[in-house]
Amino acid sequence: FRFLQAATLNNLTTSQQQAVDHKEGPLLVLAGPGSGKTRVITHRIAQLVQSGVHPYNILAITFTNKAAREMGERVDALLPDAKIWVSTFHRFCAQLLRKHARGVGLQPNYTILDTSDQRRLLKSVLTELGHDVKHFPPAKVAARISSSKNRLVGPEEFALNPGGGIGDTMLRVVTEAYPAYQRALQDSNAVDFDDLLLHVARLLEENPALRSQLDERFQYVLVDEYQDTNLPQYRIVRALSQDFPNLCATGDPDQSIYAWRGAEIGNILRFEQDYPDAKVVRLEHNFRSTKAILRQADLLIGHNFNRKAKALLTENDEGPPVELLTFTDGAAEAEGIALRIQDLVDQAGRAWSDFAIFYRVNALSRSIERALARFHIPYQVAAGVGFYDRAEVKDIVAYLRLIANPADRTAFERVVNVPARGIGKTSLTRLTAWATGQGGGLLEAAARAEEVPKLTKRAIKALHGFYELISQLSQRTAQGVAELITQVVTQTGYDHSWLDDPTEQNMERAANVDELISAARQYDAAHGDDATLEGFLEESSLINDVDSLDEHAGSVTLMTLHAAKGLEYPVVFVVGVEQNLLPHERAINSDDPHELEEERRLLFVGMTRAEEQLMLTQTAVRDIRGQRLSTIPSPFLFEMDLAATVVETDSEYIAWDDDYAHDHSLDDFEPIIKQRPEEDAPRPQMMTAADLLNGTNTPTEIPRGFSIGMDVRHPQYGVGTVRNIDGFGRRKTVTVEFAAGECRNFDIAKSPLQPV
Ligand code: ATP
Ligand code: MG
Repeated sequence: FRFLQAATLNNLTTSQQQAVDHKEGPLLVLAGPGSGKTRVITHRIAQLVQSGVHPYNILAITFTNKAAREMGERVDALLPDAKIWVSTFHRFCAQLLRKHARGVGLQPNYTILDTSDQRRLLKSVLTELGHDVKHFPPAKVAARISSSKNRLVGPEEFALNPGGGIGDTMLRVVTEAYPAYQRALQDSNAVDFDDLLLHVARLLEENPALRSQLDERFQYVLVDEYQDTNLPQYRIVRALSQDFPNLCATGDPDQSIYAWRGAEIGNILRFEQDYPDAKVVRLEHNFRSTKAILRQADLLIGHNFNRKAKALLTENDEGPPVELLTFTDGAAEAEGIALRIQDLVDQAGRAWSDFAIFYRVNALSRSIERALARFHIPYQVAAGVGFYDRAEVKDIVAYLRLIANPADRTAFERVVNVPARGIGKTSLTRLTAWATGQGGGLLEAAARAEEVPKLTKRAIKALHGFYELISQLSQRTAQGVAELITQVVTQTGYDHSWLDDPTEQNMERAANVDELISAARQYDAAHGDDATLEGFLEESSLINDVDSLDEHAGSVTLMTLHAAKGLEYPVVFVVGVEQNLLPHERAINSDDPHELEEERRLLFVGMTRAEEQLMLTQTAVRDIRGQRLSTIPSPFLFEMDLAATVVETDSEYIAWDDDYAHDHSLDDFEPIIKQRPEEDAPRPQMMTAADLLNGTNTPTEIPRGFSIGMDVRHPQYGVGTVRNIDGFGRRKTVTVEFAAGECRNFDIAKSPLQPV
């Protein structure tokens, strides 16, 4: 392999270099955020290949597809000819399972159910068992099943090991539903997300020959973000690292934030026991953040009891203090953030893409999106799953799934009558009952609809027609996925009703279908002869939220704190740092103190994404589930030493209708910023954000960009000094004394004054 001695390769500290150079035997890189763990993995791959390891023998696992792609690209830049398998656990397992499906009772063309399909299937299962889905919501049952799978507890063992906090009736229902659900999956030749891992873990455990074959194939396994592996992932990694225990794990226990999904921090803490001859490398140098940011992050995480303290040092600048911004309500918060961003772009030369906004729950993004849109600030939301959740996209994908896997029951149920073919609920129930009795799939039953008792002639004809349609479409898979989708749309007449009725909604639907076709075209192009329908479906079902992000879009990025792991941005806002949001109410109400610690780690992860500037926000009142409630500041705020700023926006401007947005310009949104003096009294423990807003201290007023004593420039009068600020909002005026000792008043909203 041609090896590029790229300059970047030399940019490693001594400890990083040690980790990169270590060749044989287990290696644990244990280090805080921004210390180069991910970088070490990339360089280590290059180093391994350079030292003679065949790329075929290397497997690298990252936490998201985006991370996998980026790492793949970086390795590619260092080693242009090497094909290294860089993947997420789920994709890796999906591909492995394609090859070894029969080992777990599946066919190689198995399909992957997403969360909503999974619930749909579970709903049918519960109904068939005679349970009322109102009392036993599929989502709750699904969560139980999922957590059992993540503990490697199968349907047979469930009753013996159901996990904590389950009531008697729920226990009974899940004990019945879990095996029935697994059977339904098996009958559908389908898996859910958890099964991907579970099946592979089982496969490796039950087939020693296969295990040793794969262990030999993947001689060098590298796992980033090891602190967030769950039990099946842990077992898989262990199974692949016995005869060739060259496992390299990197991670940071302080960034473990997926316990709710079954991740076990214990996996990383146990590494040295699992591999007694492991080499452990610690990286103590942070290359990402300013001193000010690291100091606050360190203060915060220091409050977790269950941790080993780690040094986090940086040679980066001190940077501006970490700020806590307090707003009246969510609308003011959104607007204040938009204004801050606008200011930093206008006055500090920032680019839109420098900014990221993180939140604990998705519901918080809406008001921020609206404010950004109103200020014409370009933004993107990390929500890749969103696209594939749209009805029309799900419909088309269901057709594709049925073509790939005729046994797929949820796919059949979804599209058998879309567009309408006169196959009603009753016909479908009869068909399903008969198919279950015959032990076959629904599509197969549709082909033999005339044998199904009590079906109308019309329904029989329609079912035959549907079967024919899918059979014909199945002949077209060789021309590529994009072409197949086009065929699906035209042959089913899926978009006919929209084309006749070009409402905005219909046009959006058509655009979404087009987007799916482009995604397929990209897939076809990227995979050439290896492109398969199964491959495309796999890719689209295993999408992560951050996959949708485009770094070159030149826009502000919004995402949940969970999605932010591993990423970095120059300026970061963490919004809604309030009791019940962060920490989340679930953690507060939980008896398990570890949940609160996980919330603290989550904030820690968010804060340590920031390179240069970090702002946390809270509001005095917040609208939660339709109710306007006074907030209580997050306890985490008292664990740090933040520069507190109260930002008031003139509420009369906060009207959200479109007419309003048309009639007003940016200058109308003039906040009054009251800054607390540095030597402020210590914050009382139970002070609310509202108290902070109505603070008794006389604040120094600084309207956006202006403060008393500041020098300003007027295009006509030249340079002067601000002597007074008066009024509120749009009516705010500023008095400036110019060189000649002459004072003039200006409406800030309209004046062309600029700070100098
Ligand atoms: P996290 O725990 O947040 O995932 P990490 O430990 O994986 O962080 P990286 O993302 O690998 O850290 O590195 C953080 C930043 O520091 C990146 O921008 C990276 O390029 C840079 N960096 C890492 N090591 C060095 C180095 N030796 N010299 C210069 N920059 C470095
Ligand atoms: Mg990393």
